[in-house]
Amino acid sequence: MSESLVLVLNCGSSSLKFAIIDHTCGAEVLHGQAERLESAEASLTVKSADGKTNIPIANANHSRAISEIVKVVQRVDGLVEKIKAVGHRVVHGGELFHKSMLINDATITQLRECEHLAPLHNPANILGIEAAREVFPDLPHTAVFDTAFHQTMPSKACIYPLPYDLYKDHGIRRYGFHGTSYRYVSQQAAVELGRDESELATVIAHLGNGASVAAVDGGKSQDTSMGMTPNEGVVHGTRCGSIDPSIPEYLVQNLNMSMDEVSDILWKKSGLLGISGLSNDCRSIEEAAAGDHELSQLALEIYSYRLAKEIASLVVPLGRLDALVFTGGIGENSTLIRGEVIRQLGFLGLELDAAANERCIRGQQGRISTESGPAVLVIPTNEELMIAQDAAAFIA
Ligand code: ADP
Repeated sequence: MSESLVLVLNCGSSSLKFAIIDHTCGAEVLHGQAERLESAEASLTVKSADGKTNIPIANANHSRAISEIVKVVQRVDGLVEKIKAVGHRVVHGGELFHKSMLINDATITQLRECEHLAPLHNPANILGIEAAREVFPDLPHTAVFDTAFHQTMPSKACIYPLPYDLYKDHGIRRYGFHGTSYRYVSQQAAVELGRDESELATVIAHLGNGASVAAVDGGKSQDTSMGMTPNEGVVHGTRCGSIDPSIPEYLVQNLNMSMDEVSDILWKKSGLLGISGLSNDCRSIEEAAAGDHELSQLALEIYSYRLAKEIASLVVPLGRLDALVFTGGIGENSTLIRGEVIRQLGFLGLELDAAANERCIRGQQGRISTESGPAVLVIPTNEELMIAQDAAAFIA
């Protein structure tokens, strides 16, 4: 194991995921998460080679959760001394951040300027950064942004056809998300294909609870399906993705809904959950669909159809296609959705290798298309490794 490790932190409003990573090989020494922060049920789960421990931390806030993590780390001989940098996942970097940044007081001020773009995520990210800087004042802290990778999108891809002043005066434009995952997967796709990343045109589908697709040319994002927020684009677990923009107005005017109720529908009650009426979890929906639950079958049909359409449309900015890559929990595991999407994209020359499709699940990387036509790859993502590598670059 390397003598320098990185603590990677991913803070949500009531949860905090962490991992201590050897940035030279990606090995995780310890990882876990604190959940239900600031409630009586707050708890910290830590996993290591020795197993899993659960520690109640009633009413803990982010700061105390990080102190508790440090206590756990201190129990492992010599481990805390090996942590040489902290990497923070930050959801929205607006137009201010094109790459990962070393955090100082000025960076925090800039991060606050992006808060209005991701009011659910960025404040929690900043809370985590401030708590971690208190606990580790002498280590370099690095912010790694979900949006930064997409800052290479040309204006035609990122400006909405709205009054231009809304962009100029208020930053209303497409930003895109999952950038850290796309950066890793694009590099790995080149390794898998034995080619140089700079010469590859790929469409990458990151399919988790939130799902997006990106067109990547020579390692640079040209366009992506998520927009100003992580709701635009394909069908998500509970978010609707792209819909007629006048539907919210209709719901307010004709069904007397408040904007909060509309927002609740668009973000929390739509997507796979909304259509199936059953679950936002793809695995549960596949099981129900296999048992003839009709709305689950419809949810999977809509999901695959919209995904295939989005993938095809993202070949436009590339002008060619070397590889389609699946990643994220659904992309890495759902043989059904991958198979269905590839079938619908046969006109692009994609041809499924059914046996390889069955093989590439649960972390198995590989090619799932036949040798003819563009490659279809499954590449398990590793956002934590990217964050650790970016943070390690600032170790003095
Ligand atoms: P997050 O966006 O929260 O990081 P993940 O990338 O972990 O989410 O993806 C979660 C999704 O992956 C869930 O919908 C889950 O059902 C799905 N998934 C995991 N394993 C399978 C599987 N074997 N078959 C189908 N879907 C799966």
